[in-house]
Amino acid sequence: MIANFLFLYSISAFALHCETLIHPFSPAMVSGSFGEYRPGNRYHHGLDYKTYNRNGLPVFSPADTYVSRIHVSDTGYGYALYLSSNSYYFILAHLNDFQGKYQDLEHLRYAVDKLKPGKTASLTLPYRFSFKQGEQVARTGESGIGPPHLHFEAGKDGFFYDPLSLPGLKIDDDEAPELLNLYIEEGSLHTIYQLSEIRTNESDKINLRKRTFELKNVVNVSSPFLLSIGTFDRMGTKNRNSVFMYRLYEDDKMIYEHKLDKIHSSDLIRAFRTYHQAFSIMGREYVCVLYSSEKKVMHDEKKVHNFRIEVYDAAGN
Ligand SMILES: [Zn+2]
Repeated sequence: MIANFLFLYSISAFALHCETLIHPFSPAMVSGSFGEYRPGNRYHHGLDYKTYNRNGLPVFSPADTYVSRIHVSDTGYGYALYLSSNSYYFILAHLNDFQGKYQDLEHLRYAVDKLKPGKTASLTLPYRFSFKQGEQVARTGESGIGPPHLHFEAGKDGFFYDPLSLPGLKIDDDEAPELLNLYIEEGSLHTIYQLSEIRTNESDKINLRKRTFELKNVVNVSSPFLLSIGTFDRMGTKNRNSVFMYRLYEDDKMIYEHKLDKIHSSDLIRAFRTYHQAFSIMGREYVCVLYSSEKKVMHDEKKVHNFRIEVYDAAGN
């Protein structure tokens, strides 16, 4: 009897941790990636699906879920649904309406929108509107801020996760990120080197598959100095997204690594940990700092530095 109970328990615990998700929108083309720099020192802590300038396209439940909250606003998320599953909570934002499996849900949105006192209203719901994975929950739109697209967040235990790193949500992407510029700061002086230009130097080695860049005897700086790289990644569309991970090596020893697969909710307005705010331009170039932005660790030894920089996207390109 006891053995039986233990067996059942371990099976359900296993199921809980291995919830396989589906994309809430198809085709899954990304116009904004997780962890991108946004003005105001913010991280974009969701994934944006391209809806090709159209509204009213079906949005699906990424797992077996229920609606825990509806959000209605003239700004920000616009019309948004908060869903809960066994393992995650999800937010689907900028919706056109809540047309889907439940007509009542759309009536509720309409009523709250008409009755809301200011620009924004939220309503926590009891367990009433439940969905099987893949059932239609709403329709895409452009409510709140931005052009037509679907914004999708996945959270768990206080963290927001890169949806592309969750089970079932990998996308086809074989384009490696681009390295554009190298930024060197010495005190108040900053120098920008276009990597495409100094790549021609004989002593530089470039591995295009992994976008590895080696910098040898190219740049002369007096100490101390800080390094940043200007980079972006495409995910099957023309949009320039941020990169997933980057590394700095000195003489083949890794001295800095930064990876953005999840962000704690208390860190959402600490994008300075990843990005150089003065140099990053959303949608064009994301300037990533190659040092701990809190400690401001500098390279200050007076010697010849041999650096290698690697950048990766979520698909490992
Ligand atoms: Zn978004």
